[in-house]
Amino acid sequence: MKHLLLIFLSAFAAQVAFAQITDPKATEVWDPAPKVIEPANGSAAPSDAIILFNGKNLSEWVSHKNNTIDAPWTVNADGSMTVKPGTGDIETKKSFGDCQLHLEFKAPEEVKGEGQGRGNSGVFLQNRYEVQVLDCFRNKTYSNGQTGSIYKQSMPLVNACLAPGQWQTYDILYTAPRFNRDGILTAPGRITVLHNGIVIQLNTEIKGTTEYIGLPKVSAHDKAPIRLQDHGDLVSYRNIWIREL
Ligand code: MG
Repeated sequence: MKHLLLIFLSAFAAQVAFAQITDPKATEVWDPAPKVIEPANGSAAPSDAIILFNGKNLSEWVSHKNNTIDAPWTVNADGSMTVKPGTGDIETKKSFGDCQLHLEFKAPEEVKGEGQGRGNSGVFLQNRYEVQVLDCFRNKTYSNGQTGSIYKQSMPLVNACLAPGQWQTYDILYTAPRFNRDGILTAPGRITVLHNGIVIQLNTEIKGTTEYIGLPKVSAHDKAPIRLQDHGDLVSYRNIWIREL
């Protein structure tokens, strides 16, 4: 009975509170105000982005195997870089958590291999969670390993691939997983991916590490580098920028 009375009273109080707002200004937020930035046309970097690859050098990157070594991939005269097969993955010097990431990639024009062996690379968020880069233009493979899949976890909503030799874009919105002080997952990572402007992952839950063999693994971690995969194919990248969120 006491409970019912309390519920009744609080509902009544809420109604009174609503009823008392007569000034439109009462529900306006002026402070804080969003920071003013300059957006850019097309896929160019906005003013508050960190440029991860500007087409000139790999100064923001190191070898994943040994992060005291410069990134060993090839920088091309046209402002792109290309995987140097056998040298291993590269990763950013800086570490990131929640972010907006833009990058452009291109599979070699000369088609070689099939399935997972054609234009394979990958973008790893926080060094662990792979958004697959693959040439799936008229190339069949398992659905949860296609271009734009969260590798072995979530297939893309559609196949938005352009033909090999053409530049393609990824725009990735990423919320890092949250862990408590005991290292227990309290909120999974989430990811939205646009491939050539098309939504192919929408707020997809990340189940853990993207393993080639076996199930995803979950273990606590902090901010970590963005990593690009050397899968032995001559995949190129350009115009890579990131905004920390
Ligand atoms: Mg890959």
